[in-house]
Amino acid sequence: MTAFVSHPAGMMRGMVGCTSCGALAGAPLCDRCRRLLGPGRRFLTPDGLLVAAAFAHHGTGRVLVHRLKYQALVTAAEVLAAGMVAELPPGATALVPVPRARGRRWRYGIDPARWLAQAVGRQTGLPVITALDAGWWWPRHAARGDAARSRVAFRPRARADPGYVLIDDVATSGATLDAAVAALSGAVHLGLVATAPSSMRRVSRPSGALPSREVV
Ligand SMILES: [Zn+2]
Repeated sequence: MTAFVSHPAGMMRGMVGCTSCGALAGAPLCDRCRRLLGPGRRFLTPDGLLVAAAFAHHGTGRVLVHRLKYQALVTAAEVLAAGMVAELPPGATALVPVPRARGRRWRYGIDPARWLAQAVGRQTGLPVITALDAGWWWPRHAARGDAARSRVAFRPRARADPGYVLIDDVATSGATLDAAVAALSGAVHLGLVATAPSSMRRVSRPSGALPSREVV
């Protein structure tokens, strides 16, 4: 039931029908998968960055992230980005993708945060800025303790602006986003991800102005 179409980028693929389950009668998502797309939440990283997740990292949200990250299915980026757009603050001026470690980019043939940022950019008109450079490899889950966290590192490539929004696919602990903020000298105040686990402690704040770091 799953049909693939070639993408101009070669390894990248798009899917005909439902992006999650492949059912032909439902694009980009069939009714069943849409029902299994849980809402995201806002939470703070260990270092206090406010992060908005478009969807919960289970059910359809989890499948879509996996299709993007491990199968290079770029259609999934468009579907996820549609939910991320709703979480952008009005003061956002640019999107900064958190780059995937080079080894994983090479292995899976895709840098998912860049595809998400570009999809959000297409839907909003916001520019995508390459402000971070990734190292070659780092622990898959950056939440295994301080020793592992300290190995997640980025190099800045451009000056950040407080209106810049960090973009990533999934935040499991927020440690990778914290490393990205550190590389940008703390100039970024909001992270926007496609999914996050429902276990993240929720924070609420009024929509509108860009958030500060004093949220509790
Ligand atoms: Zn489906």
